Amino acid sequence: MGKHSIDVAFCPCCAHRTGSGTCPVCFWTDDGSTDENAEVARGGPNGDLSLAHARLNYAIYGASHPRYQDAVRQPRPDELP
Ligand SMILES: [Zn+2]
Repeated sequence: MGKHSIDVAFCPCCAHRTGSGTCPVCFWTDDGSTDENAEVARGGPNGDLSLAHARLNYAIYGASHPRYQDAVRQPRPDELP
């Protein structure tokens, strides 16, 4: 385990350890959405995209929204869930 992997948050969308903010692996921006409110689109940085929808998109497109397909990158080994 890398020593810097401690205290880095998991992305709520793709589950990689990319910290808070905009995830480079799926391009979801952490807006506080959790499993409890995953169906709610908060209208913040993710617009009308809910966490549940973003997870579905990630499963299909490898990005939280198809428009981010060219922006995302593969996770690094130390970011794996
Ligand atoms: Zn992510």
